[in-house]
Amino acid sequence: MTVALEVAGVSVTYRPGRDDAVAALRDVSLTVRRGRTLALVGESGSGKTTLARVILGLERRESGVVRVDGIDVDADPSRVPRDVRKRIQPLFQDPGASLDPMWRMRDLLIEAMDVSGSVPPSMRPARIGELLLALGLADDLLDRRVHELSGGQKQRFALARALATGADMLVLDEPLTALDPPAQRAAMDLFATLKRDRGVTTLLVSHDLDLVRTAADDVVVLYRGRVVESGPTTDVLGTPRHPYTRLLLASVMPPNPAEARRRLAALPEDDAVADPVPSGCAFAPRCPLVVDACRVATPDPKPIRDGAEHAAACPVSV
Ligand code: ADP
Ligand code: MG
Repeated sequence: MTVALEVAGVSVTYRPGRDDAVAALRDVSLTVRRGRTLALVGESGSGKTTLARVILGLERRESGVVRVDGIDVDADPSRVPRDVRKRIQPLFQDPGASLDPMWRMRDLLIEAMDVSGSVPPSMRPARIGELLLALGLADDLLDRRVHELSGGQKQRFALARALATGADMLVLDEPLTALDPPAQRAAMDLFATLKRDRGVTTLLVSHDLDLVRTAADDVVVLYRGRVVESGPTTDVLGTPRHPYTRLLLASVMPPNPAEARRRLAALPEDDAVADPVPSGCAFAPRCPLVVDACRVATPDPKPIRDGAEHAAACPVSV
């Protein structure tokens, strides 16, 4: 299975004030295989959006590489095919915010094709028809303006626009948060269809473990900017091995999705995030299994057994 997207050793520090430094990502690595969906989970402030922005080329990093099909997207421009970056497109929480409200949908799609040069003019009407069909959008919406659409329709058009550029990788940052439950279900079906029929590779940032369970093949758990656990979704969510993943699942995995959302919304921002990162393992102050060594060393994730895809820093036995 080929690796479509690779993040290797990425660190980002924000400097909001002269003496302030927030280590948002520390030596983060992950890979997303072609046509797969990888979910990035973790509490608010764990660095999920920062990583999404790094992948999209919107955030400066101190170190690390982003590769698409093995090509460093920031290497010397003369050696990087022009369209590598364009193959990755974002879909943010509130797609309406990134679309000019007075634009008509048809023009948005045509502009996306124009800018990217992905579809020659003669092919555009056919391509637009195909996208509408794939995304379950009615033809007559093409003449509507952005502000005339519902949240779910905007979300679909934002996706249509991303795909109109010729992108085959999506970065979805909390894509369902702004939608009502029926529109959320429709969007989930849509992501599944895009993956199945078009082989779209997706990095999904989500608080919603219900969505992660259904949509993601693999999961990476971030805690304060570090990967603490990763692996196939069934392993990570089914048999979590890092104490933080266990805590996260126990606090946000109640019996039904509505309750899950309620509890998640009620979770305070992790207080510890405001404090400087302690030396040693960042989770040590909250870890029920902490021992002295944890205050000194920061373990990296390693396979839970030889050859396993499931990896955890400091795996607890099951
Ligand atoms: P998440 O998406 O998981 O909630 P973020 O990537 O938004 O996390 O944030 C990670 C950390 O970086 C947090 O501590 C956050 O407060 C900090 N942060 C994010 N953006 C900025 C910024 N522009 N300036 C300063 N600090 C930031
Ligand atoms: Mg975020």
